[in-house]
Amino acid sequence: MNLEKLTVENSSVHGLGIFSKSSFTEGEVITFIKGEVINADECVRRENEENNVYIFYKNDDEYIDVSNNQLLKYLNHACEYNCDIDEDENGNLVLFAAADILPGEELTIDYGYDEIYEYCSCTVCENKVEEKS
Ligand SMILES: [Zn+2]
Repeated sequence: MNLEKLTVENSSVHGLGIFSKSSFTEGEVITFIKGEVINADECVRRENEENNVYIFYKNDDEYIDVSNNQLLKYLNHACEYNCDIDEDENGNLVLFAAADILPGEELTIDYGYDEIYEYCSCTVCENKVEEKS
């Protein structure tokens, strides 16, 4: 869904990122979060033993590992994110626009775990570092 509207390119946030080739309005579903469905124990194991950072939380029993998804694995974190994750009415995990998105914008979400804010290099955090020095 909508894959022709997205592209993977160099990101100013980190490595590669997902960029929009078209506009999305706030609340619009951008794509499904597709990957290998694993349980909580396997999620913890992969994160600890394999340093897998590509796992999305769906619910307490289901986590989705997108490391083999050549689009979603490049979704970067930003503290001022423009996308969010939610379940749709059919129980699919989806990426949706949390703000209006213009062509050329990078798609970002809030990863939402503590360590990310410590080492974050998004534009908001970069500016904070500059203000302090
Ligand atoms: Zn940040």
